[in-house]
Amino acid sequence: MSTSILSSSSSEADGRDLLQPIPLLDALTETVVRFGDRPATDFFGKRLSYAELGRLIERAARGFQLLGVKRGTRVGLCLPNTPYSIICYFAILKAGGIVVNFNPLYVEREIAHQIEDSGTTIMVTADVEKIYPKVAATLGKTCLERLIVCPMLSLFPMMKSIFLRLFKSAQFSQIPNDLRHVSFARLISDHGAVEPVPIDPRIDLAVLQYTGGTTGVPKGAMLTHANLAANVAQIRVHMHDVTPGRERALLLLPLFHVFAMTAGMNYCIAIGAEIVLLPRFDAREVLQFITKKRPTLFPGVPTLYAALNAKVASGRYDLSSIRYCFSGGAPLPLEVRQRFEQLSGCKLVEGYGLTEASPVVSGNAIDAEPRDNSVGRPFVGTMIEIHSLENLKLLMPAGEKGEVCVRGPQVMAGYWNHPEETAASFIDGALRTGDVGYVDADGFLFLVDRLKDIILSGGYNIYPRVIEEALYQNPTVAEAAVIGVPDAYRGQVPIAFVTLRPGCEITSAELIHFLKDYVSRTEMPKTITIRGSLPKTAIGKIDRKQLIEEERQRREAAAASRGAP
Ligand code: AMP
Repeated sequence: MSTSILSSSSSEADGRDLLQPIPLLDALTETVVRFGDRPATDFFGKRLSYAELGRLIERAARGFQLLGVKRGTRVGLCLPNTPYSIICYFAILKAGGIVVNFNPLYVEREIAHQIEDSGTTIMVTADVEKIYPKVAATLGKTCLERLIVCPMLSLFPMMKSIFLRLFKSAQFSQIPNDLRHVSFARLISDHGAVEPVPIDPRIDLAVLQYTGGTTGVPKGAMLTHANLAANVAQIRVHMHDVTPGRERALLLLPLFHVFAMTAGMNYCIAIGAEIVLLPRFDAREVLQFITKKRPTLFPGVPTLYAALNAKVASGRYDLSSIRYCFSGGAPLPLEVRQRFEQLSGCKLVEGYGLTEASPVVSGNAIDAEPRDNSVGRPFVGTMIEIHSLENLKLLMPAGEKGEVCVRGPQVMAGYWNHPEETAASFIDGALRTGDVGYVDADGFLFLVDRLKDIILSGGYNIYPRVIEEALYQNPTVAEAAVIGVPDAYRGQVPIAFVTLRPGCEITSAELIHFLKDYVSRTEMPKTITIRGSLPKTAIGKIDRKQLIEEERQRREAAAASRGAP
């Protein structure tokens, strides 16, 4: 039986040196020396050079140490994308601490759970009503002891109108003047030297990144300095054609998400790129922004490129500055990639990864035609194995489906305080991704679906992605999502939800008819619902979990009304 273990791409030899375990901060230190006078961040026209960024990080790190941050102290970040996020992230690392990323859209209960699970004692947050009160409410009820509050107006006094627009109802919180609250100004007020903290990059954690993982319970993936630094180095090897000190990246994916953190922020800092930050997504605003700011790099997720495709045709926008886009997090429909490439003239490179692998594992080459629907070959230093779904110990031959498992320097140390979950997520030392896929004879990885999304229908495995891809073949369909719902006879059956492209019309019955040429009778969705929009996760992936929940509630309500007298 042939094995499906892949060795790395041809650039492995060039990349090996880069994969030495190093502290994540080394790249920043090098960039500050090399490109000190170059712009590091641009936030609505307000720029910081790398030298200025370096100084602010130094001062904030000193502030963290004065507040008691030591090697291993967990410090949370619960912020929208602003320069504060970047300054505090690196300052926590410099002080020896571990960054715990919090999603600012979480409700208080979720924030409190993550604080307790991670043992976060200090949190950096923003003084806006949509975020601050939720975080402040956990003081005294959890192990959180201190809040560092970043005033969204005072660092950028000219920008009131922008913030009013961004945060809509625009309320800024009144921050109590007590010992539990520290202003960002106070954090950076001491000019003393930072106490150097020796870091063992292989052991010391840089980030606790929370994820549902394959079992759905939120857990902190322990990403070491070496994990994150290796993934940045791997991306650098992959993107071999970019010019350090010369690129400008548009970052609008939320920095608390692992993809934006690594492939956006950490990668850009390592290559001395200017990071143009945009804290929220509005397709027209983004297109105007690209036309004006002329970024050369633009990492995103498929729904983002699809939304831009829909708008770009209707306006006078210039996307020609973009050289490379990097898409990850969810399947990139072929048609979305081709259309975006055609409209912008850039190369849209699809990669694959997951939180537990810092996150990137594979990618299509930047200088060759991509293999359609493949997520590319493994990154340098990475091995991908396909394990049998029936017997995890067995490896599958080329072309056959199984669970995608990964080995490499970017693979996490485990889940924080969850030894059993950690043990269950590895097989013979390889990380189980929970994704089903196969590798072709040339070593390209193809993903079929996530294990937990597989629909079990009358003894058959149905992969929602197969049906979604079929729906995307219809020119009226903008977005498609398929979930399984309980069925008395078959156990589960697929149902589909779609949104249509602007100006297009089609009925559910016509879509069902269209699908007959593409999917089997078992795979045919029982219903297709045409909606105005589909729920998305914070990073912009279509949220199948939310659709399942909505459908469950709808069914319960329907059953209750049938049972009502
Ligand atoms: P997360 O840890 O939240 O970033 O989610 C990781 C999961 O996203 C993976 O396990 C895959 O199921 C999915 N994913 C990431 N990249 C891709 C891709 N290019 N195509 C399909 N699914 C992807």
